Amino acid sequence: MTNKESVETQYEFKAEVKQLLNILVHSLYTNREIFLRELISNSSDALDKLRFESNRGTEIIQNDLPLEIKIEFDSKENTLTITDSGIGMTESELVENIGTIAKSGTTEFLRKLAESKSEASNIIGKFGVGFYSVFMVAEKVELTTKSFKPDSEALVWTSDGLGSYTISKALDKSDRGTKIKIFLKEETKDFADKYKLEQIIKKHSNFITFPIKIDKDQLNTVTAIWREPKSFVKKEQYNEFYKFLTYDNEEPLEVIHKSVDAPIQFNCLLFISKKNFDIFGMNRDDYGLDLYVKRVLIQHKNKELLPEYLSFVRGVVDSEDLPLNISRETLQENLVFTKIANTVTSQILSTLSTLAKDNVEKYNEFWKEHGRILKMGYSDYANLEKISNLLRFNSSSCETAEELTSFDEYVKRIKEGQKDIYYITGASRDALHMDPHTEIFKAKGLEVIYLFDPADEFVFSNLNKVKDFELKSADQVELKSLEKFEKMNKTEEKEEPLSSDDKLHMKSLLSKMKDILGDKVTEVKDSERLQDSPACLVNPDGTMSASMQKIMQMVNKDASIPKRVLEINTNHKIVKNLLKVFKQNPNNDYLRSVTEQLFETSLLLDGYLQDPHLLVSKVNKLLEDSSDWYTELKKM
Ligand code: ADP
Repeated sequence: MTNKESVETQYEFKAEVKQLLNILVHSLYTNREIFLRELISNSSDALDKLRFESNRGTEIIQNDLPLEIKIEFDSKENTLTITDSGIGMTESELVENIGTIAKSGTTEFLRKLAESKSEASNIIGKFGVGFYSVFMVAEKVELTTKSFKPDSEALVWTSDGLGSYTISKALDKSDRGTKIKIFLKEETKDFADKYKLEQIIKKHSNFITFPIKIDKDQLNTVTAIWREPKSFVKKEQYNEFYKFLTYDNEEPLEVIHKSVDAPIQFNCLLFISKKNFDIFGMNRDDYGLDLYVKRVLIQHKNKELLPEYLSFVRGVVDSEDLPLNISRETLQENLVFTKIANTVTSQILSTLSTLAKDNVEKYNEFWKEHGRILKMGYSDYANLEKISNLLRFNSSSCETAEELTSFDEYVKRIKEGQKDIYYITGASRDALHMDPHTEIFKAKGLEVIYLFDPADEFVFSNLNKVKDFELKSADQVELKSLEKFEKMNKTEEKEEPLSSDDKLHMKSLLSKMKDILGDKVTEVKDSERLQDSPACLVNPDGTMSASMQKIMQMVNKDASIPKRVLEINTNHKIVKNLLKVFKQNPNNDYLRSVTEQLFETSLLLDGYLQDPHLLVSKVNKLLEDSSDWYTELKKM
């Protein structure tokens, strides 16, 4: 500290930054070139912000400076300098922006980054810790910055990326904006080369909307391709722009490029990715479309342009009909903006409908990746019909668990006189296939939609009706309504009907069973729905479906077992044998153990069994008894 003006303040990087730097500096050797993409993108953001302030009339120093990004290099000194005339930073902004990572999910991000080094360039870009990537190539960085605010001072930030940085006042007079001087490492000095820099910039930064210059040559195209007529844009350009926008390595699944003139003018260029972007399941909030007004960026990833259920769509919307000085805070109240947003939603939904019609395979691919998000559109009443047509699911008519079908197809197959669409929720296709509640539907050849995602329960109960057909959970259907449908395979009804005397005994047996179970059930009754299974539990008529009940219990943290009706298949061998026992001695202990067993296995099937140990010990006891009987019978 020799003179007053070079007073330096030293700061320590925050722990998470140190951790990130450590990974960047010591483990990432491939794809180092992306540091340039990150710095140029920061410069472009700083220029966008400046233009935004300028449009709303904020006072700005050096307002006549051209808005551009300059790249300089010195292959003797091994340095590289990136300069922009953007908003710059004040001292407190410097400390806050470059020195910490002010993002949620940082720890998770760092863990993933350390695990998947090969994909680092994607991960870094998507998470946005771009600036620090400069330390993949720099042994020292000197950043000079001057804020656009009047009376701001130029500051110099320096660091070797190891653990600390310093900030001091700049000795030279500086222009508004930020200049980053990189002292390249020995092994990365080849970046100080014009040809190499040009290649990297063309590859990663071609669509930056401000000129990027080396030696006065402008490298990027700076065309707003969403403003070009569709017929002028080649597929490669769409792909390139998509990759620039999303950092995705793959091509998009679908491109939507529209120019709307009436009633409101806007252009949009939208993309649907092949893969779900939510890489760690923690980026739910990271969506939106870039909003431009007259080619000027107003906001990156604006969320009001898209409902959340379309958050898998990325892209750009640009309108002539919005004012340039529009404030981001009041966008939602702007009528023109709301109309644009609604039209964007309709455009996306109709593109998906067309895709679903014209290219089933591609649509199903889309559904498998993004369906979970799209179906959340069940709460968008204005578009409910379109959305319900876009839903896909498995059903008893499908051959495999992977096959998908739609309401449209269901309705085409619907039986004459059928007024409802049946569905049931469960863990897997196999489980639902064997679910006692579906037996009667199977017997009568009625299609049941199989739902495996708990969220589907909400979607279906909210939709309520589709194409005039009511959606009904199979465990809630009134059996009377099924009487009109004949059983498919009548020959199977070879079971002898009970004699009138036995019918009376059966009635007493059922009430005996109710006595045994006490208030664990509301009723024990003869079942009309069961074909193969001996028993099942159903909700009393008119209450919610079993799976909805389970969801509500989870929401309310209620672990109790709901009281339901135990239905008994009086044609079943077990029950018929039980009747024999009952007729001989209504107080036989065997009645109790079988009744409890039937009740508990029904609970088990419905996912309500709380203590499997008890069930297992009872099964073992029954096995023990039956092994005794077996050996006696066979005289072994
Ligand atoms: P991100 O850009 O995703 O926010 P970075 O680590 O790249 O993450 O940058 C952190 C912050 O530093 C930026 O949000 C911005 O506020 C500030 N910053 C970085 N580069 C510049 C620049 N060239 N001009 C002005 N501010 C900048």
